[in-house]
Amino acid sequence: MISVTRTTEAPAVDIAQLIPGLAAYASNTVRLHPRPGSPGPRDSHIGGPLMWPASEPWPHCEAPDCDQYPGEDPGSPMVALAQLTAADFPEIAFPEGTDLLQILWCVGYHCCSKHAPCRVVWRRASEVTEILDEPPAPDLEGELPGFYETYIPRPCVLHPERLIEYPWIWELPDDLRDRVQAWDQDKDLYEELSTAPGFKIGGTVIHGSAPSGLTCVACGAPATLLLQLDNGEGDGRWCPIEDRHLLCLHGTPEYEHAFTPTGMMIDVGPGGLFACSADPEHPVHFHIQ
Ligand SMILES: [Zn+2]
Ligand SMILES: [Zn+2]
Repeated sequence: MISVTRTTEAPAVDIAQLIPGLAAYASNTVRLHPRPGSPGPRDSHIGGPLMWPASEPWPHCEAPDCDQYPGEDPGSPMVALAQLTAADFPEIAFPEGTDLLQILWCVGYHCCSKHAPCRVVWRRASEVTEILDEPPAPDLEGELPGFYETYIPRPCVLHPERLIEYPWIWELPDDLRDRVQAWDQDKDLYEELSTAPGFKIGGTVIHGSAPSGLTCVACGAPATLLLQLDNGEGDGRWCPIEDRHLLCLHGTPEYEHAFTPTGMMIDVGPGGLFACSADPEHPVHFHIQ
């Protein structure tokens, strides 16, 4: 069981009460608050060891435009992005019979893919008897130092925090957006009170970092945010109360671990994995701005 040790400041005002019609757009989200640590292969984590069966081949990137091992078989080994268990995150829609979600992606550069290559695996944890000890890793020797590494998250333990949020302003219907803008003349307060930055499960993706109205490629049902990825924890109200004393330590490891915990620098800000709202077994897609 993971305890809550990071807290978002309570909103200064209740926007759902002040802006008629907004309450219907409230959604539940779980801020993950990853922090560098040593998660085990059975834990929920970002960037830690996966509970991967020793008998099963490790996923490799099959994208034809991958700049790592282009055209080779197998391609570049994928790296672990996240592992989430049903016990820690009951709000995830696990396909029947599964209780472990594993997400991997390729750190290579892909010039032409519409979706960043990722692999999403749902399993039943009790079926993994022997765990793979040393998964293959991409060979980054000779590459620009630090470039691809920013796509490999540091192993982080999670400090989940559940809260209510509201969509990015441009995701709202026109008449509701007009009311929000009339209420929030400088447009900063709504942003601070609505959509959580950082790694999170559920809710809505921030700042239009994915196209609006995404649908499932298999059945056309609306796609919902499964996991948001972000470079940092966010500032202002979103900076966890417990970490604010570290704000004056800019440039130190303590600061970095609190505010850019995974060490990732995703190109242009956040991105997200989207799942089918009708059938969790339909393909999950990764979108980045
Ligand atoms: Zn690739
Ligand atoms: Zn679907």
